[in-house]
Amino acid sequence: MNDYSLSSSPHKTPLRHDWSRDEVAALLALPFPELIYRAQTVHRAYFDPTKIQISTLLSIKSGGCPEDCAYCPQSAHHEKSVTREALLPLETVLREAKAAKDSGAERFCMGAAWKKPKDRDLDAVCEMVSAVKTLGLETCLTIGMLTPEQSARLKEAGLDYYNHNLDTSEEFYGSIISTRTYQDRLDTLSNVRDAGIHVCCGGIIGMGETDSDRVGLLMTLANLPKHPESVPINLLVRVEGTPLQDAKPIDMITFTRVIATARILMPASHVRLAAGRETMSESDHALCFLAGANSIFWGEKLLTTPNPVKNKDQRLLDLLGMTATLPSCSSQG
Ligand code: SF4
Repeated sequence: MNDYSLSSSPHKTPLRHDWSRDEVAALLALPFPELIYRAQTVHRAYFDPTKIQISTLLSIKSGGCPEDCAYCPQSAHHEKSVTREALLPLETVLREAKAAKDSGAERFCMGAAWKKPKDRDLDAVCEMVSAVKTLGLETCLTIGMLTPEQSARLKEAGLDYYNHNLDTSEEFYGSIISTRTYQDRLDTLSNVRDAGIHVCCGGIIGMGETDSDRVGLLMTLANLPKHPESVPINLLVRVEGTPLQDAKPIDMITFTRVIATARILMPASHVRLAAGRETMSESDHALCFLAGANSIFWGEKLLTTPNPVKNKDQRLLDLLGMTATLPSCSSQG
């Protein structure tokens, strides 16, 4: 098996956490060929560019969420929200985890539509995490805000990764979500990191944000005390019945610029092409991979929104001469 990493660029750029707004804005605005060249150079120094990390994700509790995220069909605030469902029983989660393992997954991500877990919910989730671990799978969760104590309990139960997205810039955040603050988000990220859990954190593009908001999001992610191990970049899925159902679609060049800039700012992180792939062509996917995206989900759904089925993704990887490496996790949300 060929290993293309390190072959073209032996020099790993040092990881930085002191990016200025001007520096990030300058990268995002580079002439496109130059931006892609720089992203490719960084990507090859840290990763084999022919490998794509694959994630699997299960919604363990859907709908009825008290948060009002404008993009999310699981919010109870919106006109048409996903039917509220109780927490899945442990047996169901285990059955799904076994199926994921049988299809080649090594990590299993579970998402619950909560603002924050209650203690009794956390008991059940800890049990799920421990049980999934016994199958020999790595574990990942996205279940809302966590206290330091809850983070420590999840770590003890065997949790490997926690997904908690910043979504957009601090300045634009209030236009998308009013039921929590940016600082709430940062606090949970800090609690999770302090507990020794790996962090998965990114954002959503196409919600009506400006380039300056994209710069703000990327700069905040890159200047966290430690870069998130996974950085999901979502293209907004305009779900009917949500306040963003009529958001103006953005072009794939703008989206690819965000991927490339994330790759340059956080060279050692997996940059994940997350929600929104259903509407992307094979060429769009290829462009994102060239810009440094090296992770996707496979499965028919991302929590509640459609996602290309595995066979379609396999065909795409075959077409590009790329191969899957499993696994990881995250979501739009
Ligand atoms: S994105 Fe998460 S927190 Fe926001 S409404 Fe949806 S499920 Fe709730």
